[in-house]
Amino acid sequence: LKENNARQLWHPMGHPRESQEHPPKIITKAHGVKITDIDGHSVVDAVGGLWCVNLGYSNDRIKEAVSAQMVDLPYYSAFAGSTNPAAIEAAYAVQAFFAEDGMERVFFTSGGSDSVETCLRLARQYHRLRGEPTRTKFLSLKKGYHGTHFGGASVNGNNRFRINYEPLMPGCFHIPSPYTYRNPFHETDPAKLAQLIAQSMEDEIAFQDPSTIAAFIMEPIQGAGGVIVPHETFMPLMRDICDRHGILMISDEVITGFGRTGDWSGARHWGVQPDMMSTAKGITSGYFPVGAALMSGKVAEVFETSGADGGIYHGYTYSAHPVGAAAVIACLEETLRLDTCANAGPRGTQLFEGVQALAQKHDIIGDVRGGHGLMTGIEIVSDKASKTPMDAETMKRIHQTAYEAGAMVRLGMHNILMSPPLTISEAEVDTILAALDAGFAAA
Ligand code: PMP
Repeated sequence: LKENNARQLWHPMGHPRESQEHPPKIITKAHGVKITDIDGHSVVDAVGGLWCVNLGYSNDRIKEAVSAQMVDLPYYSAFAGSTNPAAIEAAYAVQAFFAEDGMERVFFTSGGSDSVETCLRLARQYHRLRGEPTRTKFLSLKKGYHGTHFGGASVNGNNRFRINYEPLMPGCFHIPSPYTYRNPFHETDPAKLAQLIAQSMEDEIAFQDPSTIAAFIMEPIQGAGGVIVPHETFMPLMRDICDRHGILMISDEVITGFGRTGDWSGARHWGVQPDMMSTAKGITSGYFPVGAALMSGKVAEVFETSGADGGIYHGYTYSAHPVGAAAVIACLEETLRLDTCANAGPRGTQLFEGVQALAQKHDIIGDVRGGHGLMTGIEIVSDKASKTPMDAETMKRIHQTAYEAGAMVRLGMHNILMSPPLTISEAEVDTILAALDAGFAAA
């Protein structure tokens, strides 16, 4: 396995040559919040798989549900007039989770990118059905991550995920991110920055003509962009602008949904009800690839009361996959039973405050972001005054040393991102902090 690692296998999100020179770690086993590699080295998984393993790795209830469904009905299409009991029950469970956010209908997908794509497509169709076919454009935030399909990449706010795949979908416009550490306004006050971005959004809408814009998509807390936590007024301001211009608001909750922020949805955290939500990850805690796009009553009604045009000609072979749906039901039951949301708050605070303490000790820490559940981002710089991003080699050394010292963290562009399972204990958070300390010392 070691010899063939990265030979036939192309590793996602990386250079094939770089992967051959520095082969990806081979993870063979996982239990609780710990993962073990092919050499038998065990560490706390501070990444939670990829922001998704909310319940940890040894949830017997999900494993049993998935196995039982494999026996009864491993697959049947949800196209062409058929469905399955697990899908009906899973849709009921997912809707119940987000009822407080105003969500009433559930469309199953195979992951986060599919859920985003579903929202973008149905947003356009919604406006057509309402007699406004000119509303086709999308607004989004810089530094946002919305998956890799062409629609999602088009609203993506990071050039690295866009540039090689141009031309993307026309009619997508990006406004500044609520990123206080670096922004075009040189504004470090998050409340003032929120106001400035709201003004930019108004300007862009006026420039584009409001009657051409279908939807605005944002993450309540930007994840892959570096855990960017906006001021509490930010999402409500965006909601208000959307309302005034007839623009749908899509809350991309692929990371923030199902308790990661210490609330069941990110939008709820900021007191906002979106029109659509894209979800995945925590929906099965990584035990099966599933996502879901959710629609508010306002959106659903337009489809459900329309004529033939209301038909949804969109879906995936694995939409409402019975085994995936069984994983969803078991995962959501366990999520409630273990009340992971209640643990995410205090453990998130412990991690955030622990990293803030490390920032007093290590000069390479430029900024620490988090404080809302178990999403923490650490910006690493080679010079604090000029905020010069740390070089890639040093970033790798931090990552590797932390791994050897007991924690797998995620290496972002110039940052370290963490999203451990929501079931993590106080002692395990301390292990992550000690491993980071070692990593920073090595840098
Ligand atoms: N949206 C957001 C906010 C995400 O973080 C991600 C994945 N990290 C996606 C969409 C895409 O999800 P997937 O990788 O499951 O396609």
